[in-house]
Amino acid sequence: MAQDKNVEKVIIVGSGPAGWTAAIYTARANLQPLVFAGRPKTVPTTILPGGQLMMTTEVENYPGFPHGVTGPVMMSYFEQQAVRFGTRIVTDKGLNPDVSNPDDGHSYAYQDCKRVDLSRKPFVVVGEDDKEYTAHTVIIATGATANWLGLKNEMRLAQSGGGVSACAVCDGALPVFRDKVVGVVGGGDSAVEEATYLTKFAAKVYMIHRRDQLRASKIMAERAKSNHKIEFLWNKGVVDVLGDNMITGVKLKDTVTGKESEQPLGGLFMAIGHTPATAFLNGQLELDAKKYIKLKDPYRSTTSVDGVFAAGDCVDSVYRQAVTAAGMGCKAALDAERWLAVQGVE
Ligand code: NAP
Repeated sequence: MAQDKNVEKVIIVGSGPAGWTAAIYTARANLQPLVFAGRPKTVPTTILPGGQLMMTTEVENYPGFPHGVTGPVMMSYFEQQAVRFGTRIVTDKGLNPDVSNPDDGHSYAYQDCKRVDLSRKPFVVVGEDDKEYTAHTVIIATGATANWLGLKNEMRLAQSGGGVSACAVCDGALPVFRDKVVGVVGGGDSAVEEATYLTKFAAKVYMIHRRDQLRASKIMAERAKSNHKIEFLWNKGVVDVLGDNMITGVKLKDTVTGKESEQPLGGLFMAIGHTPATAFLNGQLELDAKKYIKLKDPYRSTTSVDGVFAAGDCVDSVYRQAVTAAGMGCKAALDAERWLAVQGVE
């Protein structure tokens, strides 16, 4: 393949554990990756730079941090490691920001990827400032955003570590929830799984569901119903989250009678589904029914377009863990590196 110096070898879209890990591996393979890290607009509806971990307080299940680490600090470590080996990040002030001190407030803004053109080679990736970049390979690692109810106090307490979370597996074991009465919103498999998990630590778990029937599979539903620590609040919608610095309860509205009530709680976990950040692909990669990117081979990172790889929560509706996303980012980097070698791009 003729080598054009203006064509990037690899562009990575996304900056969660999958994106940064892909960057670390491709940078160490001397491919000088270019990263579109994304930009927060109105949380929680868009891709966050750093991904879902930017909404997480303590991360205690990522190997290598025996004393835990906060999500934002962990993501800044990932980023610094990627930059150390030559990763460039697209910002409004150029490609090489100083990421060594994330606490001093960045004087630049990361760029979102606005759109891609995967129909021609080299591929085209367009930033939000309409600047076009071309690349031989693209790794999509844009993640999936947990769905929230969109209540003002829900978001305030979620962002300040006030006992509201969208991931029980990530946060449920934190001391702040031990022996508390907590709530899980939702009636699907995730809600049941999270409620069951929480019973290991919490004194009691209320499953708050807007209907009188679970969506979860029968076996999961039976498991929850037979767990003496789980109690169901059927036909209830959460209309407000109560508490100043820490959640004290929720205001509920009966979806049948309209009657309002309050339920004291020491923690609240949203389990009302996730939305993969794949809309910007505009149908150019094959997606599954739930809009997650379909992999050509489940053990690899190959997608329906040759030379485009995908990793992390944008392909994974099942595990959704930082460590699984990072592992997939590694696979995508190795797949991209091998693909480039086969194409003769050095
Ligand atoms: P899901 O199946 O889409 O369930 C979402 C739940 O949230 C539903 O009960 C829904 O209520 C409720 N909900 C949605 N929007 C809401 C709102 N605005 N207010 C209140 N409630 C709302 O999502 P999921 O549970 O995350 O599961 C996603 C996929 O992963 C599913 O295919 C699931 O089977 C799979 N999964 C499997 C396992 C397992 O097998 N171990 C574990 C986790 C997930 P309605 O029921 O009224 O629509």
